[in-house]
Amino acid sequence: MSRPIQAHIDLAALRNNLRVVRRATPARVMAVVKANAYGHGLLQAAEALNDADGFALLDARDGVALREAGFRQPILLLEGYFSRDELPLLAEYELTTVIHSQQQLAWLDAYPRSNGLSVWLKLNSGMNRLGFSAQEFPAVMERLKSHRAVRDITLMTHFAQADEAPGVTAQHALFEQITANRRLPRSLSNSAAILRHPAAHADWVRPGIMLYGSSPFADTSAQALGLQPVMTLRSELISVRDIRAGDAIGYGATFRAERAMRIGTVACGYADGYPRHAASGTPILVDGQRTRTLGRVSMDMLSVDLSALPDARIGSRVVLWGEGMPVDEVARAAGTISYELLCALAPRVPVSQA
Ligand SMILES: *Cc1c(COP(=O)(O)O)cnc(C)c1O
Repeated sequence: MSRPIQAHIDLAALRNNLRVVRRATPARVMAVVKANAYGHGLLQAAEALNDADGFALLDARDGVALREAGFRQPILLLEGYFSRDELPLLAEYELTTVIHSQQQLAWLDAYPRSNGLSVWLKLNSGMNRLGFSAQEFPAVMERLKSHRAVRDITLMTHFAQADEAPGVTAQHALFEQITANRRLPRSLSNSAAILRHPAAHADWVRPGIMLYGSSPFADTSAQALGLQPVMTLRSELISVRDIRAGDAIGYGATFRAERAMRIGTVACGYADGYPRHAASGTPILVDGQRTRTLGRVSMDMLSVDLSALPDARIGSRVVLWGEGMPVDEVARAAGTISYELLCALAPRVPVSQA
């Protein structure tokens, strides 16, 4: 037997979550599979999401991998090309590209081949990360319309606060104003906007986190949204002991027992992707029962409270997050968001799927 930690990927849950997107919108669905499908494994996630109308990711080589695996949908590079050298690859594999900067336009102008690139032209509507300003945008749009290398154009922007107040109103209004009457397909919405801002669905939506079964909102659980967890991070107890009042646990002795208690050691640590910032009290399942972590998370282990689990023993099953233990709750306890935990699953953790 090897170290008992494992991540299980529930492909049926992934398909369920895509159906939740479909029920929320008639728009075409560009499934976001960047960051190795948010840590879930690019190819297996794409396979389960094969009904999606397109896939969005960052690295052209990942787009090529999807093409070579037989996917025929549009594959969108969310940051476009990072140098002129990538353009032939985009053409060869029919990868759709975001264009967000004058630099990318200059590379396109210098590209000798004339061919049918599909372009998603990005407006910076307030995020101030990528995209052309409202002033530049109309002229760039006209230029691309008559560009010899461009076959078709979709207009896009990205929301900074779709998940919270004040919402998308200002960014949406600016996008509408700049793109009105252009009769080009448009795309604005991430998961939060898909669920809360139907007026911004337009022609293509771009769900990421909701496909993986996590809530984009701080105030609403994934379950309440009909989403099912896709990744379950499991391990086992590898040590169990009784400690006395006054005994401390782990590095820094940050947890000290107020009374005699039974504790366990789980084979999972920050080198597996579990957040070291998760403080004592982070929820965790042992033998299907909710308990809490104790003390600091170490590289390869963490400690749990077994006071209410007299039958727990070496080999008892532990769920760090996933089925029965929402990753959103663990993320909150660690002062972060589910996205970061899912993406940070370490390569050393074996992954199974069904
Ligand atoms: C990551 C990303 C998304 C998906 O966002 P979620 O919040 O995970 O739904 C959509 N659009 C763009 C441009 C992105 O970078």
